[in-house]
Amino acid sequence: MFVDKAKIKIKAGDGGDGAVSFHREKYVAAGGPDGGDGGRGGDIVFQADDNFSTLVDFRYKRKYVADKGQNGSSRNCTGKSAEPLIIKVPRGTLIRDANTGRIMADMSTDEPKVLAKGGNGGKGNVHFATPTRQIPKFAKPGYPGEEFEVTLELKLLADVGLVGFPNVGKSTLISVVSAAKPKIANYHFTTLTPVLGVVRADEEKSFVMADIPGLIEGAGDGVGLGHEFLRHVERCRLIVHVVDVSGIEGRDPKDDFRIINEELAKFDEELAKRPQIVAANKSDMATEEQINEFKSFIEEQGMEFFCISAATTQGTRELVMKISEILDTLPPIKEYEPEPIPQAELDDMLGAGKRFEITEEDGVYYVEAPWIQPIMRTVDPDDYSSLQYFQRVLINSGIIAKLEEMGVQEGDTVDLEGFEFDFVY
Ligand code: GDP
Ligand code: MG
Repeated sequence: MFVDKAKIKIKAGDGGDGAVSFHREKYVAAGGPDGGDGGRGGDIVFQADDNFSTLVDFRYKRKYVADKGQNGSSRNCTGKSAEPLIIKVPRGTLIRDANTGRIMADMSTDEPKVLAKGGNGGKGNVHFATPTRQIPKFAKPGYPGEEFEVTLELKLLADVGLVGFPNVGKSTLISVVSAAKPKIANYHFTTLTPVLGVVRADEEKSFVMADIPGLIEGAGDGVGLGHEFLRHVERCRLIVHVVDVSGIEGRDPKDDFRIINEELAKFDEELAKRPQIVAANKSDMATEEQINEFKSFIEEQGMEFFCISAATTQGTRELVMKISEILDTLPPIKEYEPEPIPQAELDDMLGAGKRFEITEEDGVYYVEAPWIQPIMRTVDPDDYSSLQYFQRVLINSGIIAKLEEMGVQEGDTVDLEGFEFDFVY
């Protein structure tokens, strides 16, 4: 089964917990604390893999959780960090945040991408001994790993996309110019999955051609087959529009040409403007007059016209050479850049507009803001970016401004939902 869309949950591993332990040795009474730190949780890493061509596996397994870091142990032993969980996807898979639709990664290159970071391990009790607290009976739990719901969307990587009505000869064409062997038959919709073929222009040059299932009228509106396959044309640098010039199925090739281009535009305006050339196929069955009429129609639109017969391979070599020549002048295959988190979501994450109350008693500022509790649990004081994030939450929510308004001074004690710290700015 060919599946090119899926939605999954990913969760990086939580950090291991810090240990509570005390040094013990024969004849040595009451040794100091020696509980080690927890190890880091495993990351969720995506990797493009050419052995995969569909997202079908993700229909069956929808949740991916990386291992937790090992807990710390006695004798100041740090727990082992967990291995990353590597998720293999077909090349060309686009990963989006399912909640906002923002692009998180484009798996087009071999570079592995970390989509969710594992949590740091918690500190063991060895860190919490102070002159006044010599027997710290506590340690910190590990920090949670990042968690997302993501959509996976395969957008094939091909230089050239074949588009056209069903049965015009697209599969036949790719089968004679490349080693790809798609199903060919004289009925509509034999091609149900896109097929990629490597086409050799000469010894040094080759390009990738994609046979896209046939488009029909209304495909752009989601009627029938085609619409969902158009995403595989989106990255193509050049569209080769295959038209049956013989009109053997009773349609006028000029209508075919117009309808398909309207469908492309309906799906994506930009796609309609993509460089396009026309391959008038089944010329072995067309009259001279049919060919000439269609040729002038296409040339009037300012497009290149090629008369071919995929079945007899007539003209296909010339077409391949021309495609290669045009590709030399076109920009490389489109890669999608990761998108930043939208402002509205950032504001929400950063606590903008959230309510809080501050009261002052004996020089201590008590901040009541229950919504900040889950955020505080995930803040890792040993992680710079984590602390910075927390700082931004305090600024964005207006807590800092309010504290200053109330006259807080550097070094004053602030109690944030039961957690005390010294005010520094
Ligand atoms: P697709 O649906 O566009 O992929 O079309 P296919 O490649 O499956 O071809 C549909 C039918 O048209 C098959 O029976 C092919 O043998 C036939 N066909 C394809 N190219 C030509 C051609 O150049 N001349 C003739 N006479 N028949 C062709
Ligand atoms: Mg086909």
